[in-house]
Amino acid sequence: GSVFAHLVQAPEDPILGVTVAYNKDPSPIKLNLGVGAYRTEEGKPLVLNVVRKAEQQLVNDRSRIKEYLPIVGLGEFNKLSAKLILGADSPAIRENRVTTVECLSGTGSLRVGGEFLARHYHQKTIYIPQPTWGNHPKIFTLAGLSVKTYRYYDPSTRGLNFQGLLEDLGAAPQGSIVLLHACAHNPTGVDPTLEQWEQIRKLMRSKGLMPFFDSAYQGFASGSLDTDAKPIRMFVADGGELLVAQSYAKNMGLYGERVGALSIVCKAADVAGRVESQLKLVIRPMYSNPPIHGASIVAVILRDRNLFNEWTLELKAMADRIISMRKQLFEALRSRGTPGDWTHIIKQIGMFTFTGLNPAQVAFMTKEYHIYMTSDGRISMAGLSSKTVPHLADAIHAVVT
Ligand code: PMP
Repeated sequence: GSVFAHLVQAPEDPILGVTVAYNKDPSPIKLNLGVGAYRTEEGKPLVLNVVRKAEQQLVNDRSRIKEYLPIVGLGEFNKLSAKLILGADSPAIRENRVTTVECLSGTGSLRVGGEFLARHYHQKTIYIPQPTWGNHPKIFTLAGLSVKTYRYYDPSTRGLNFQGLLEDLGAAPQGSIVLLHACAHNPTGVDPTLEQWEQIRKLMRSKGLMPFFDSAYQGFASGSLDTDAKPIRMFVADGGELLVAQSYAKNMGLYGERVGALSIVCKAADVAGRVESQLKLVIRPMYSNPPIHGASIVAVILRDRNLFNEWTLELKAMADRIISMRKQLFEALRSRGTPGDWTHIIKQIGMFTFTGLNPAQVAFMTKEYHIYMTSDGRISMAGLSSKTVPHLADAIHAVVT
């Protein structure tokens, strides 16, 4: 018999498993709102025009080679990524206090940052919001950190539990790490206001709590790259230290290229240099060095003023379509007279709406309407179109009446 015969079948990933189930459904009306990937009005995946142009440039450049990148990845990509998230005029960049390493998208950046902290930071506990992206607790546990939660979402208002958040961070041991979604909180679509961010910042700095920002949706929340980066820049402006994990999966549509960056903002340039040397020791035995293609695409776009501007327009168009889907779904429920307050659909921000539907209601909608979503009632607005809104509204109406 096999030495692996004792293995039990592992469950599907709770998020990616939704697509597995969707793919098995032969119904022509089926609708996948489970996965956070952008779709066009026609329901098709989108490759941005600037990405096509950048790839063409790369193909035409005969001087390009396929040697290994350094352990920290593509240098130009790293510099441009830091500027994109921290701002071109960031004092931390000017003072050489930032180290940035290319990692395997947002997930890889979180994992490398987590392992670095587990090895070198004096506190091993990371507080993550309740709820949060389902991969967070697993990433940080396997990185060697101990994971605790802070209150974030209030089901009764379908908004932020700001009081609970302040109480929980206020009670966290001095120096604890705190994971913050930079914008477009997943799965709730609920973000603090800038005034609330300022209070969070003050509280965290007063207790020496270490901010670890997860920036998976820069530009997707408001349509503006700078607006969505504001909370991070507030924390950088006070001169304190922080980590930020960036992903280009959503905002450049580079999902499968696995391109992202981890930046660590330090108080002094010499510290940043030593931090980078230690990051290399985390990365080398993990995957040696990151892939070259996706980072090259990003570098081509970020370095060229015209391509950059074109990207911001394409990004804004994606964000606007998502916002328009919110309005259409809200209106569709209103016109059906669906019981309940659905204003959270238009108030929430980013790719997802946290509908408030419970697991039994979700199961009903999947069985009777072939609509797929995670069991917590999260739907991807990016997977909706004008054509599919009525079907979703019919299903929600049926399940709550
Ligand atoms: N953080 C959050 C909050 C996310 O929603 C995601 C993607 N679903 C990620 C990180 C990481 O995604 P990726 O590794 O594809 O960049």
